Amino acid sequence: MKTQDYISREEQYLAYNYHPLPVVLNKAEGVWLWDVEGNKYLDFLSAYSAVSAGHVNPRLKKALIDQLETLDVPSRAFYTDKLGLFAEKLCKVTGMDKMLPMNTGAEAVETAVKAARRWGYTKKNIPSDQAKILVSSGNFHGRTTTIVGFSSDDEYKENFGPFDGGFDIVPYGDLDAFEKAASNPNVCAYITEPMQGEAGIIIPPKGWLKSIQEICKKHNVLLICDEIQSGIGRTGKDFAFQHEIDRPDGLILGKALGGGVYPVSAFLARADVMDVFNPGSHGSTFGGNPIAAAIGIESLNILEEEKLAERSAELGAYTIDKIREMNSPLVQDLRGAGLWIGIDIDPTRASARAVCEALKLRGLLCKETHETVVRLAPPLTITKDDIDWALSQIQNVFKLMEQKAAA
Ligand SMILES: *Cc1c(COP(=O)(O)O)cnc(C)c1O
Repeated sequence: MKTQDYISREEQYLAYNYHPLPVVLNKAEGVWLWDVEGNKYLDFLSAYSAVSAGHVNPRLKKALIDQLETLDVPSRAFYTDKLGLFAEKLCKVTGMDKMLPMNTGAEAVETAVKAARRWGYTKKNIPSDQAKILVSSGNFHGRTTTIVGFSSDDEYKENFGPFDGGFDIVPYGDLDAFEKAASNPNVCAYITEPMQGEAGIIIPPKGWLKSIQEICKKHNVLLICDEIQSGIGRTGKDFAFQHEIDRPDGLILGKALGGGVYPVSAFLARADVMDVFNPGSHGSTFGGNPIAAAIGIESLNILEEEKLAERSAELGAYTIDKIREMNSPLVQDLRGAGLWIGIDIDPTRASARAVCEALKLRGLLCKETHETVVRLAPPLTITKDDIDWALSQIQNVFKLMEQKAAA
């Protein structure tokens, strides 16, 4: 079978909820991917930052296989020898007190919503069913109906309503608007990405999160950071909140927590927030199973021992500098934190999709977010040589498209 045959089969039997680049992959190792025709590509998406430790990382592979050969999924009707270890390690690395394990990111966000509301009713004495959660404009927190209900992007929610409410959107980065919203006594929490991923790698002004935390403290509002994409070294710190604050009141992790090989997510919180849960109030059949726990532990070991955050900070700064030096008229704006870089492409010259398709033809796989942003997010294990190779492909594509735009 050829590329087009695989694509046709997917188109026939799959819901059309993704618009993939026309490449059919069948092999991966480290930072490299191969397609069914034997072409080799450098992965500059990392499965939306899930594969931060590289594809088929030998340590994660070993953790997965060793665990599968001893104990797989007994459910949380019983204790296991792994889950406590994972929770202890994750709490120590993040500075949080307690964790609640789930599988996908959206489930961990749902967990945070539940925790925030229960805390609001039982600890802040918000009248029954009146709790409000603040969220940011441009947010992305997943795809469940509750979560898309508070998206500011119509594409995510069109014809999926009715939505239940209970969320207010505040402009991302606007402290005055936030303080006004947070002073409503029915507000229990602010759930936000400390830096926004799907919105196009949006980095708020320096000092923003610190000020947000002060306002939250003043009005007794929980600050809950969604670091599903920004966490585990991506932004040049272990967690993006560490650029500004010691710790939030709640923290949501996913994606790279499972090393890109297994869905592992978690909600973490201060003890007095997590204590709102009691047996029967929440759960997940697969959440915290020994395989997930073993992989989670090893992901955190890799983060520390392979210094992923330091690598990300150093190589990210290098990459941004080099792209800036290209001085391409295609680049309208360039921003990033660590190896998490957004390039705004001037829409009068090219679409971000066209740039990604041209990069694909040169062996570099990345994906646009919205119409105008090219996101660069390679595995954090990447070498400087491989980055240099990617930069030369980017340079070539920019030149090619500048000529096209001029013609
Ligand atoms: C990917 C993502 C999610 C959703 O995670 P899923 O595992 O796809 O459910 C939530 N929040 C952020 C910031 C994300 O990047």
